[in-house]
Amino acid sequence: MDQSKLVTITTIILFSWVAFIISWERISPYRKGLPFFRDGFWVDLVWYTIIQSYFLKILIFDYIIAPIQHQFSVTGLALFKNWTITEQILFFLFTHDLYIYLFHRLQHASKLLWRTHEAHHSGKEVDFLAGSRSHIVEIIINQTIEFAPIMILSPNPEIIVPIKALLDAMFGMFIHANVNVKFGKLKYFLNTPELHLWHHANYREVFHKNFSTKFSMWDYLFGTVYDPGKKPGDLRDNWGLYYDYPKDYFLQHAFSVKRFDEQKLLRNSWFNWYYNLRPRFLEWLIAQWKYLRKSKTGNTENATEPSPELSQPQENFVSCEE
Ligand SMILES: [Zn+2]
Ligand SMILES: [Zn+2]
Repeated sequence: MDQSKLVTITTIILFSWVAFIISWERISPYRKGLPFFRDGFWVDLVWYTIIQSYFLKILIFDYIIAPIQHQFSVTGLALFKNWTITEQILFFLFTHDLYIYLFHRLQHASKLLWRTHEAHHSGKEVDFLAGSRSHIVEIIINQTIEFAPIMILSPNPEIIVPIKALLDAMFGMFIHANVNVKFGKLKYFLNTPELHLWHHANYREVFHKNFSTKFSMWDYLFGTVYDPGKKPGDLRDNWGLYYDYPKDYFLQHAFSVKRFDEQKLLRNSWFNWYYNLRPRFLEWLIAQWKYLRKSKTGNTENATEPSPELSQPQENFVSCEE
């Protein structure tokens, strides 16, 4: 099968999975009353899922893995020559998942590495999209370690990479999904939303627990499972970080380098202008659209002229609710 056909199939499966998970969250929510357009929804969708993923894919594959491949000029290690696609996928799935468990554990134990992981824990409202929120450095490290061995060692990277990426995305959405599901005995092997949602809860006793991504067996095997048989609670304080965290994508990354108070920064008029640029741009777009629609129907009497204020920094303090 050629790669473009495979990518079309994996894309169709991925979008069907998104539709399935969204419906499931509405029908049987783990945490009741969580809105679809929850806090941070647009940051996760636009910045982390679309823009960041697009650029990091190019950076990781074309500028990190390709030069490594070129340097070593090894393709398809003899070990994998006679392996089927399924066997290779299972091998890379297990080995990468064990690595992710260990690195994730290290990120919670090291103050320095925590700076690359806290973004992932910053959401107070966790749903299928929340897993996409990951610091740039975290993604670069994890995806290079995930995909470089496949590109270098597998004789079929053009098949393994899209399938592995699809499984990652599907499983990532599933373990973060706000769904009520019981796995029975299977929970000792496969990770569940229940275990991973607890990992996103704001409780001291779970900070060093439930590190698994796909296979929960690592947590059971290494004694880091936390499964109290109850839910963390529906309050905002029950979830996310115990300290304030910026809402803006760029500030979230700046915060990992230098700590600051977002509310204090908002008192600066230029910063305030930048911070409110996106909501004002949206308002401006809506105003344009309304104006154009009314112009088309010939009724411009009540149409508002598009506002030019987008280019002006605002002197007044305007707080932005994401
Ligand atoms: Zn974590
Ligand atoms: Zn997570």
